[in-house]
Parts: sequence; structure tokens; C-alpha cells
Amino acid sequence: MKNILFLILAIILLFSCKNTVKTSKQVEAVKKDTIVVKKDTIKKPKYPSFLNIDFLMGKFDPSKHKRFVRIEDKYTNKHNVYLDKAAYHAFLKMYDAAYKDGFKLLIVSATRPFNYQKGIWERNWAKRKNIKDPVKRALDILKFSSMPGTSRHHWGTEIDLNVLENSYYATEEGKKIFDWMTENAHKFGFCRPYTAGRPYGYNEEKWHWSYKPVSEIYTQYARENMKDDYISGFKGAETAKQIQVTKKYILGINKNCFK
Ligand SMILES: [Zn+2]
Repeated sequence: MKNILFLILAIILLFSCKNTVKTSKQVEAVKKDTIVVKKDTIKKPKYPSFLNIDFLMGKFDPSKHKRFVRIEDKYTNKHNVYLDKAAYHAFLKMYDAAYKDGFKLLIVSATRPFNYQKGIWERNWAKRKNIKDPVKRALDILKFSSMPGTSRHHWGTEIDLNVLENSYYATEEGKKIFDWMTENAHKFGFCRPYTAGRPYGYNEEKWHWSYKPVSEIYTQYARENMKDDYISGFKGAETAKQIQVTKKYILGINKNCFK
């Protein structure tokens, strides 16, 4: 009888010991889980929450978007044009610096939504009805104008300044502005995406400047997510795939504008 009682006691003791071990193992596991969860919580998201394909393709209203601000009339020859807030504040600083050095920077184009770009594109498309091959027709427009949905001007990070002619920047007045921008724009975060001598993409544009701290995020997003298949909704859109618009035009920019 004594022996049986001793045996029962030993079994109970063994079980309670086992349970204790198990419990401490569980605690360890919970601790581990907690650490993993914490890590995930503090990890910064790669892209802002509003950034998606519709945003990238200019399918939103800048006047109603939290990232956008209306450009004051004194800085532009257009009405009701918008820019990304950070890009605008950087532009204002650059404007003041240029003004002190004797130059006036004038924004002649800023954010252009999808439908605005569609208007530009289809006017150009109509003008070239003598070019029968649709790919050649699109390529001729693409020397200077973007297909709707693929323009950096959708993003609010891009500005066209002063005069939209490369020849102007060879004149005495134009050269002074261009040289000042080349020397100073980068101090305010601006770079020039359409330089001469790139392997493909739009022709050189000496008037087009990009606010790199924001536009390089969108460029990276485009590199990872944009597809030629998404380009539609205007005349000649079916040529996008053959032309490789995403690779050659959206991403065919000066390397200084992208990491
Ligand atoms: Zn431009």
C-alpha cells in the first residue's frame, strides 16, 4: 500500500514538473512572437499609402488630393495649376535664390492629369494623320509628348520652366537661366530627367525639371509595378506595348534623377 501511494505521488510530481517545463517553453515562444510583431510594427512602409497605379497614371483630381497645393499666380502663367506640396516649397526657395541672382523662374506647366494629357496627345495624333503606320505616328509624338498615363507631369513633381524650346536656351538670356539652373537646381532637390545623349526616351528638354526626393519614389514604384498593358483609353494606345513605353519613356530618364 505504501509503495502504491509512493508511486502515485511520484507520477503526480513528474507530470507537474513536465507541465512547468512546457509552460516556460510556451513563455519563450510568446516572447519570440512578441519580438517579431514589434519588428513588423516599426518597419516603415516602402511607399506612401495613396500611391497606386491610378495615381501613377494621373487618374485623380490634384485639387482634391492631400499631397497637392495650388501654385500662386505670381509663379505661373497658368491658372489653377497644382504641384506636390514638397516640390512647391522647394521651388519657392529656388525661385527666391534665382531672383536674388537676377533670374525670374516662371512655371509654364506643372501637374497634368490623365485627361489633360489625353487632350494634348489626341490633338497631336490628329495632326499626324498623314503618318499611316500607328507605331511611327506614336513615335513621332513621343519625341516630346507623353502618352496619357505615362507622363511624369501626372505626379506633381515636375515643372516646365520659362520657355518650351531648346533653342531659347542657346540665346544669351536663355543660356544664363539654364546655366544657373544647372549650377543650382540640385541644391533645392531638382534634377533634369530629359538630358541629351540618353539611349532612348523623349528628346532633350532643357525646360523640364523634377523634384527628385519625391519623384524618385514614384519612379521606383513605376519600375516595380507599371506595365504597358495598363496603357489604354486614347487614340493609338494599342502601340504602347510594341514601343515599350514603360521601359523606354517612363524609365528612360537621366540617371541623375534616379538613385
Ligand atoms: Zn515637362
